[in-house]
Amino acid sequence: FQLSWSGVATTDSVGLYETWYALENGTDSVALTTHGETMHTRKWLPCFDEPRFKAPLKLSIEHPKSTKALSNAPVVSVKETPEGRSITVFEPTWTLSAYLYAFSVTDYTSLQADIDGLPVAAHVPVSLSALLPQVMEIIKSIVSPSLKILGAIHINKKLDFVFFPDHTSAMENPGHISFGADFLNRRDTYVHEMMHQYFGNLITLEWWSDVWINEGLANYYEEIVTKGDGTEEMITSLRSLRGSLNSDVYSTSLALHNPVETFLESRHNFRNPYSKGAVIVHMLRDFVGKRALDREIERMLRYRANSTLSLGQFIDYVAAAGGEEGENAANMARDFLTKPGFPLLIVRNVDNMTIIR
Ligand SMILES: [Zn+2]
Repeated sequence: FQLSWSGVATTDSVGLYETWYALENGTDSVALTTHGETMHTRKWLPCFDEPRFKAPLKLSIEHPKSTKALSNAPVVSVKETPEGRSITVFEPTWTLSAYLYAFSVTDYTSLQADIDGLPVAAHVPVSLSALLPQVMEIIKSIVSPSLKILGAIHINKKLDFVFFPDHTSAMENPGHISFGADFLNRRDTYVHEMMHQYFGNLITLEWWSDVWINEGLANYYEEIVTKGDGTEEMITSLRSLRGSLNSDVYSTSLALHNPVETFLESRHNFRNPYSKGAVIVHMLRDFVGKRALDREIERMLRYRANSTLSLGQFIDYVAAAGGEEGENAANMARDFLTKPGFPLLIVRNVDNMTIIR
């Protein structure tokens, strides 16, 4: 079966699109790249563009000889066409949801490194080349701790960090992590995208109703990697708690598990899953014990690798971590994940009596 298909690059920052940047001589240049989350891969590739349909991607790209093509998987070969263009052929990816397929064609400059046997590279426009050494220092400081935190499950055969000056966000595409220039020095963002290599890329939300599965778990482990699990992490967790309470106080606040039928609804679910998701995982950890929760999350990563995770499946792992208190742990997880807002407990001391309501 063969399907021929053609499309055009847009300037919308989604699907396949052009991204512009300044050169040192004052002129502009353009790179070509992709952004799939949540439902944009279908704009450049006919596919079943829903996270639960995972499949490998085998990609080859014809591009100008003066440019370099990168994608999720390592390059197998670069050949020259009779017309003097290049064809870059990539290894097949592992099993991925389509929103994580990514590639770029740029005339960037790069810096490579080997981190614990993993080929890693940073790619920036030539005008930003002076920043490459400090970018690589940040990458070197975060890749090993990020890969070791969860039993060193090796997910990627290589890691490319690709910077696009006009991006306003970062995206965790496996092996092809893209960053806006504002994030060049944000160590926490690098760690966050690394933790998505587990939560999002290795095990993926089953549907966009549970964005917190990707974002909450990535944020929880981002805090552990960047702050350790001592006092500093506790302070970060309290800050996350305050942030999540502030954004969860409105009558329009959404539950973390929020049913999605349309593209716009899928985007709404990115409003509050980061800090609130992390805070709920913290709370569950305090209830069942760190060792028990770590054990179940590692089991979840092994058994659900290259697959998806639903709300009910996550709650089953929490129940297993809870042991004899499993049912209470599961009820707590279900309540906090499926209801908006938060419980309010008022404690007063009246005439030396403590009143709680
Ligand atoms: Zn994220």
